[in-house]
Amino acid sequence: MMQPIHIEHTSAPKPRPKASDIGFGKYFTDHMFILDYDAARGWHDARILPYQPITLDPAAKVFHYGQSIFEGLKAYRTEAGNLVLFRPEMNIKRLNLSNDRMSIPVIDEELVLEALHQLVLIDQHWIPDAPGTSLYIRPFVIATEELLGVSPSEQYKFMIIMSPVGAYYEEGVKPVSIYVESEFVRAVAGGVGHVKTAGNYAAGLKAQEGATLQGCAQVLWLDGIHRKYVEEVGSMNVFFHLGDKIVTPALTGGLLPGITRDSVIHLLRYWGLKVEERLFSIDELVQVQKDGNLKEMFGTGTAAVISPVGSLVWKGERLTIGDGSIGELAAHLYETITGIQIGRIEDPFNWRV
Ligand code: PMP
Repeated sequence: MMQPIHIEHTSAPKPRPKASDIGFGKYFTDHMFILDYDAARGWHDARILPYQPITLDPAAKVFHYGQSIFEGLKAYRTEAGNLVLFRPEMNIKRLNLSNDRMSIPVIDEELVLEALHQLVLIDQHWIPDAPGTSLYIRPFVIATEELLGVSPSEQYKFMIIMSPVGAYYEEGVKPVSIYVESEFVRAVAGGVGHVKTAGNYAAGLKAQEGATLQGCAQVLWLDGIHRKYVEEVGSMNVFFHLGDKIVTPALTGGLLPGITRDSVIHLLRYWGLKVEERLFSIDELVQVQKDGNLKEMFGTGTAAVISPVGSLVWKGERLTIGDGSIGELAAHLYETITGIQIGRIEDPFNWRV
């Protein structure tokens, strides 16, 4: 039987940010979820508390060996006023995939889903009103045992915090420029690139700094062994529209199995289009661009949903993709997925929860 969730309501609700000031991940709602783990009791003491700081011993393992994982999903208010999560069971499965890879005990999936439901319900007035806005949900686990030995922690905290987020594209969807990173790599197959562990993101910052210096918004990551095959764009999965088909890198172990990626593949096939999940080299990418066969390139992820790529910087050359506006397929995918999320259009796969 699922353990009960104890709820303590805040007595001091916080002022909510002005619509113009929301941004991404700057403000946090009134409540948070906490679940503790120790070897004797397993995961226990599920509770929703007023949002508050936590106290950790400086020897807590997370500070030293990075034993930590996270997830990211959103809650939406539909046009009819219902509260919706988008495929949360996929995030919960990936949460446990990440836990398992990082030697963290897996968590009861039913309990996590119930925690998400209860927390969103309690803080539902934090979902902003403006179109395109939502409540970003950040579940995460940290190793809290106070011990410097390199071994799996015997204590953990699982927490869920939430933050209202503004519309990603306030001035419309704008294609971004991308720097093809050929020195640093994000991940290697056999490592941890296929899960959401904190260190992946810390390790990606250096390349991101380089991309910014080149006037680019994001990095295009190549595989860690050959520096040849395209893997991801920033912290998004990536798709190429080659006219008669759509290609996306196969899940070879170095890239995250994105939920938006999965949704895009489902939709494209549902529309009768041909999708290939396979190795796609930077040389092939440059060739199709030069041959005029690269119709569109876009990233996919929870935050932006669809992020069109307008140009690539590779070996000092800038390659343009499309005409600088969002491509037809990217626009259709964006409208469809966001439409399903806010209940504006039919949901053929029952993704709304
Ligand atoms: N790749 C990486 C490295 C990411 O961090 C994310 C965001 N979770 C994605 C891809 C996209 O995944 P999703 O569609 O599940 O948000």
